[in-house]
Amino acid sequence: MNTRLRRACVMGHPVAHSRSPMIHGYWLKTLGIPGAYELKDLTPGQFPEFVTHLEKNGYVGGNVTVPHKEAAFRLAAGRDAAAEAVGAVNTLWLEEGRLMGGNSDTHGFVANLDDCAPGWDVPGCRALVLGAGGAGRSAVYALKQRGAEVHVVNRTASRAQDLAARFGANAHGFDAVPRLLGEADVLVNCTSLGLAGKPPLEIDLGPLKRSAVVYDVVYVPLETALLAAARKRGHRTVDGLGMLLQQAGFGFRKWFGGNPKVTPELRALVEADISK
Ligand code: NAP
Repeated sequence: MNTRLRRACVMGHPVAHSRSPMIHGYWLKTLGIPGAYELKDLTPGQFPEFVTHLEKNGYVGGNVTVPHKEAAFRLAAGRDAAAEAVGAVNTLWLEEGRLMGGNSDTHGFVANLDDCAPGWDVPGCRALVLGAGGAGRSAVYALKQRGAEVHVVNRTASRAQDLAARFGANAHGFDAVPRLLGEADVLVNCTSLGLAGKPPLEIDLGPLKRSAVVYDVVYVPLETALLAAARKRGHRTVDGLGMLLQQAGFGFRKWFGGNPKVTPELRALVEADISK
């Protein structure tokens, strides 16, 4: 029997702010699984060597965060379909000694939407995604996988166009937002606007149908100005913390097994930490 403690970690630079140890620590404890989840601050120079010898370094896998997601994509010997599509790896695990890479943001994005706004994917569902960075890519991929017609709006037109071409979506500039809002069943903010320390996202929700769901992947603050405005108008709203929590379960199952659940207790724990 293998009695060695299974260890995983989050690799980033910087990484001290990560809530992943809190989330995985909660599941290890409540599920009674002997294991450890640690912070690993690695510079871009250190990262390749570290992950190439992950097992020798004592780890069964881990999460990858800024700035290593593209390097992890290149270094993985095998990748899941979501990572291939998005072009970034945020979860690493070992399969018979081979370094495998996956992208759990796509899973977290849609699992959170299903959880908080069941039935969002109405027939002929149209989604409007603001932002074409890493979060935007995950969202567009996940929405397309679920059959939605997706419209992407981004400040830098070429990024929206590249993303749209990659996933069969439609690209627009911010000037098209009022028209697109009128047709949207789901509105998603994947820009960093509204994030603490960044400018707010300023859009008029006036044209949006009352039945439309409003989703903000930003989770610091928990209730962004966009979500507050949408709630006031009676829309169903979805915040970014659920996405963070839902995506974490993907890696946990790979490294430790078990059936990690996003419980109200876990959410409250992380919420309290964010509100500090
Ligand atoms: P990213 O790759 O750097 O992309 C940032 C996006 O925001 C780009 O589309 C960028 O447009 C846009 N943007 C930035 N400043 C802008 C401005 N002043 N006006 C208009 N657009 C602006 O970042 P990311 O990784 O996608 O992250 C985006 C947000 O999602 C962050 O707040 C992050 O915390 C959040 N996030 C949440 C989760 C979760 O689990 N909930 C996961 C991942 C990310 P340009 O292309 O024109 O620069």
